[in-house]
Amino acid sequence: MGAFCFWSWRLWAGARPERIEREVILAVGLLFLGKLAYGFSSGLELEHAEIESAYWVLAFVMVLVYLSFSPRQGLWIALGMVGLTSALGLWFGRGRTSLELLSFLRNETRLLAMAGLLYLLAAVKDRLTQMNRRVEEMHTLARTDPLTGLPNRLALSERLEAEVQAPRGLFLVLLDVDHFKQINDRYGHAVGDAVLREVACRLRVGLREGDVLGRWGGEEFLILLREESLQNALAVLERVREGIAFWPFEAVGFISASFGVAEAHSGDTVRSLLERADRALYQAKRGGRNRVEPA
Ligand code: GH3
Ligand code: MG
Ligand code: MG
Repeated sequence: MGAFCFWSWRLWAGARPERIEREVILAVGLLFLGKLAYGFSSGLELEHAEIESAYWVLAFVMVLVYLSFSPRQGLWIALGMVGLTSALGLWFGRGRTSLELLSFLRNETRLLAMAGLLYLLAAVKDRLTQMNRRVEEMHTLARTDPLTGLPNRLALSERLEAEVQAPRGLFLVLLDVDHFKQINDRYGHAVGDAVLREVACRLRVGLREGDVLGRWGGEEFLILLREESLQNALAVLERVREGIAFWPFEAVGFISASFGVAEAHSGDTVRSLLERADRALYQAKRGGRNRVEPA
């Protein structure tokens, strides 16, 4: 009861739950080591049920130790438990019959074998978790544009394939920064990169959380909108266009972008939708740039 109150208080005082979990496991381990020591010292036979049950509880504690600590920490604690129980048994077991010592030896061997086996299992699990994490990292990395941090063409293509299955209210937008080559030529590639990052940032700010935005390639971005009507989609994109054209960019001043919008229809494929958006973008460029053109 006292221990329960103590750990409840520690939890309430802000101690991390993992830490408390570890403390509880170690405390239970110590408690049963004490019980074992008491069993040994009180002259019980070494194969007595109470001693046997203390060994089983310690084996269970060992499992918990490996679940809660890292494999290496778990190994040290488990070996410490084997060392302590052996020392206690040998100390109090002097003068016992060889049959009793045999049962003591059996218990110790079992505990040691468990320590080793659990370490192997924990190490393999640890390795697998690390590998899974790396695979997930590589999956994300392969789908992220390093310059802007936005989804790249691969990620967008996968998303497009999924979204085009439900074409109702879906709008695909391709946008291209106007005269971007001049920015590179005049201010250098590094400034061009900074402009692309800023464009990405302004686009993200101008869109809603659920809208898909990514870098399609070079100075071209792709947006997927879900809107009730073309008018609504155009109104959103007009705001986004203004977000780029209205305020000057650092070092380069005012720039603009052109938008091509294609509304999805049933029977559309990713390719047909992209082609329409691309044609609309071409029209926007031909029409004088800095504009949103529906297909
Ligand atoms: P338009 O208005 O017709 O789109 O003209 P533009 O100059 O923007 O188009 P163009 O396709 O001629 O030039 C695009 C330039 O974008 C060429 C390429 O060097 C540059 N570019 C592509 N990717 C990057 C990048 O990651 N960083 C930088 N700094 N420049 C890039
Ligand atoms: Mg371009
Ligand atoms: Mg361009």
